[in-house]
Amino acid sequence: MAGTVLALCVVVGIAPSAAQAAGASEDGRLPVVASFSILGDIVREVGGDDIRLDVLVGPMRDAHTFEPTPKDARALGRARVLVVNGLGFESWMPRLVEAAGFKGRTIEASRGVQPRRLDDEDEAHGHGSADHDHDHAHAGHGHDHGGVDPHAWQDLANGVIYARNIARGLAEADPVHAAAYEARAEAYVRALQQADADWRQRLAAIPADRRVLATSHDAFGYFGAAYGIEVLSVVGLSSEAEPSARAMADLVTRIRAHHIRALFLEQGGNARALQQIAAETGVKPGGALYADTLDLPGHEASTYLGMFHWNTQQLLQAFQAP
Ligand code: ZN
Repeated sequence: MAGTVLALCVVVGIAPSAAQAAGASEDGRLPVVASFSILGDIVREVGGDDIRLDVLVGPMRDAHTFEPTPKDARALGRARVLVVNGLGFESWMPRLVEAAGFKGRTIEASRGVQPRRLDDEDEAHGHGSADHDHDHAHAGHGHDHGGVDPHAWQDLANGVIYARNIARGLAEADPVHAAAYEARAEAYVRALQQADADWRQRLAAIPADRRVLATSHDAFGYFGAAYGIEVLSVVGLSSEAEPSARAMADLVTRIRAHHIRALFLEQGGNARALQQIAAETGVKPGGALYADTLDLPGHEASTYLGMFHWNTQQLLQAFQAP
């Protein structure tokens, strides 16, 4: 049976860094707040020097469990534009908007994408494994999005939609620079489309039965659907919960049943549990996949395109391993 990759994505709960200095509008730049790091990078590409950007949930921080501070409220209070992912991702945002007294324009970057249900992957993948059933799916992933999968950015075609929505919203808020937003967005869209085509081709060259990704954090549904990768849900290794003995045993069984050959360690999550699984299964832990956050500046995954490149490269290597 072909190899499978167990990817335990980056779900971070690392020490909170001080919020970035809040942007002001004295310099004539449009003050914009983006909710989290991946969105922030897309906004930066489109907004360029015409905006002053604050990102609420910075790199290597967990947007799912984010707790805004008064400093975040002040930053949002000064902004004229707020860019959110939508699809239920930023559950903490309505309270922050109210606390900040934000009265500006909100851009929902995901507007127009085809939303996935969190249980779509179960419907889509009859893997022929008796232990891959609905009882196991999605328990312990720590998401609560009313059944809608918010991780639409993991498909670069959706990233194109994000960039254009952001350009349109910035242009409406700041018509003087509309042409510049449009031009930067279209240049960026070309880069996204190029990367999308490249990776689609490279992944399609891998036999389909090797393109299997197992993850505890339901963040790769859009990715899997877009790039022909089967995504298995596994239970018990969310960043928030200590897995039970039963969950651990279930994972070990799955890893063996699916001949998973690479474990991708979760940063800030249950590294200890994963080490234990690695020891029990003899599978060598690999790197990490980025789900909801960029890496810190200076790392390849510090941009949206860099993150995508990193993730797909990691998977390609694992799928190709002998
Ligand atoms: Zn997530």
